[in-house]
Amino acid sequence: MKSIKLDNKCLHCGKELHGRSDKKYCDAYCKSAFQYQMAKETPLRIYNKIDNQLKLNRKILKEYNKGGKVTVRNETLLNLGFDPNFFTHFWKNQKGDVYLFVYEYGFLRRKENGKEKYVLILWQEYMGRTKQI
Ligand SMILES: [Zn+2]
Repeated sequence: MKSIKLDNKCLHCGKELHGRSDKKYCDAYCKSAFQYQMAKETPLRIYNKIDNQLKLNRKILKEYNKGGKVTVRNETLLNLGFDPNFFTHFWKNQKGDVYLFVYEYGFLRRKENGKEKYVLILWQEYMGRTKQI
């Protein structure tokens, strides 16, 4: 086996580079081809990131929502990687509380005895009925 310096290869085609050690591409073609590829993949990376977070959120909510309506300390969920900024839709009850949903699992942030909690609920069919406001 020939020993090849792994740290100095073209980012696009993987060919070994000679000359300046800060070179990243063979030439302008490889540079633009690499940057084009990166730009093309960016939306997919963002999609995957959001998709993964939603899946994680759902998994965590599912894990804690065993009884239909449960209250948990929010740090319990946050420590597991739960991110309340990622949800699929919301539902507002008659009192005006806005429950955020990750698919069929809903959560509402609430302060109880000075502690931040999440009230967890399950999506019910009647919530999908649209009301005229
Ligand atoms: Zn190249």
